[in-house]
Amino acid sequence: MSRDDPEKAGTTAASAPTINPAALAYVKAGPKQLYIDGKWTAAKSGETFDVIDPSTADVMVAVATGDAADIDLAVAAARKAFRDPSWARISPHQRSRYLLTIADIIERNADELAVIQAIDIGMVLAQSRGLIATMPDVFRYFAGAATKVMGSTYPSDGSSLTYTLREPLGVVGAIIPWNSPAFAFAWKVAPALACGNTVVLKPAEQAPLLPLRLAELIEEADLPPGVLNIVPGLGAGAGDALAKHPGVNKINFTGSTGVGKGILAASTGNLKKVTLELGGKSPNIIFPDADLSKAIPAALMGFAAGAGQICVAGTRIFVHEDVYGEVAAAIAQAAQGMKTGNPLDPGTDVGPIISQKQFDRVSDYIKVGQDEGATLRTGGQAHAGSGYFVQPTVFEDVTDQMRIVREEIFGPVAALIPFKDENDAVFRANDTEFGLAAAVWTKDISRAHTVARALEAGTVWINTIYELDVMVPYGGYKMSGIGRELGPESIEANTQLKTVVARF
Ligand code: ADP
Repeated sequence: MSRDDPEKAGTTAASAPTINPAALAYVKAGPKQLYIDGKWTAAKSGETFDVIDPSTADVMVAVATGDAADIDLAVAAARKAFRDPSWARISPHQRSRYLLTIADIIERNADELAVIQAIDIGMVLAQSRGLIATMPDVFRYFAGAATKVMGSTYPSDGSSLTYTLREPLGVVGAIIPWNSPAFAFAWKVAPALACGNTVVLKPAEQAPLLPLRLAELIEEADLPPGVLNIVPGLGAGAGDALAKHPGVNKINFTGSTGVGKGILAASTGNLKKVTLELGGKSPNIIFPDADLSKAIPAALMGFAAGAGQICVAGTRIFVHEDVYGEVAAAIAQAAQGMKTGNPLDPGTDVGPIISQKQFDRVSDYIKVGQDEGATLRTGGQAHAGSGYFVQPTVFEDVTDQMRIVREEIFGPVAALIPFKDENDAVFRANDTEFGLAAAVWTKDISRAHTVARALEAGTVWINTIYELDVMVPYGGYKMSGIGRELGPESIEANTQLKTVVARF
């Protein structure tokens, strides 16, 4: 389906609501430019790259390919803005007001932003709306935090004063992925600005449209030029240049574990600070006393929402052997009934995989699973050509050593694994190099908290999944990351302490 006809775009039912026309117009209008020092500009090289609609495999729009030369300009602009009194010397209340204004702008334009994100990343519109709806609260939380960035005073001998100042780091480079640009943008930009840093953000090349449109809309907040810069480009180009840049004080990265390792290595050039939010292979553990009417749909959404392209996706579903048959049958049947299709269509349950490359990767894993001897309980169909769709897929009869159990697939593919008892479940759940999230379903509160404590994961959900809140820290154990975002930890992660000793 072409998006040239806004009346028809994304709708099949006669009664389907009109899709936000501003969003449809934005997605087509190009080429998009870089946003550096408060101005929109072409890449120095004049190059552009095509953004592909994952639902149709058609080219949607061209975007300027920022590279090292553009990153140099953006970092210089961000450094200048960082030192400029119009940003460096403003009161915390003024910083707070900037963030509150940005929150209002996002809220006012939420529908347009949700549609742009849904089209660009192929996320089902209702889910995209849900993610966009969280953004204003993130900016408001950090607007509050801006007036509470505090140091301490220390005991002294009466003829001296010792205190700490909690100061911004400087230029923060944000490198974000395609799977959740709304989260990534808000989680990285809001705390960085709240603490007085300036930002150079590189969107993912597969999905740069939401960050670019946000930058356009946020112009209304009148941030001083250079405080927020957006440089789309390729990972090996703009991304690598930002990660290595000697003028960048911190990289805040969300993406794959492999690239995260490279970012950490690149940081050694100037020992910039690094926060990494990386991949996962999250366990979802269902005990026999669980409320299955909640645990089963949650397990399904846990691996199928966002077509499984979610870092915290619960792709290893451990089910106690007493209820395994019932749970496996219900999950398989529900997965089979899920409708893949255009994310703007209200009848769609699962949108496309982001790109041909990811589609090939997910398809390959489905084949690997079968070659390894796992049983394909349902799904397995993948059809590309016009859009990159994969039916939610469930494997059974897996072993703990199979690649489909050990490696992050980043598609709607889960393994169902029976377990005997609590120890067995915990041991196998922890038998992974990742540690991003985990879920446990039981009515026994002792067991729930014992298991939560035993699981090696940055977030553990009890009788729920996917609950993230800006008030609460988020991040990974083991190879799922370094550092934390959100909550008070975000303030620490975006500041540094200066100790001042005065003698009189
Ligand atoms: P995903 O699996 O979500 O695509 P990636 O780790 O490949 O995750 O990409 C996340 C972000 O990292 C994207 O913005 C991408 O362009 C960027 N990126 C990819 N390779 C590099 C690299 N070598 N250096 C810096 N950034 C990179």
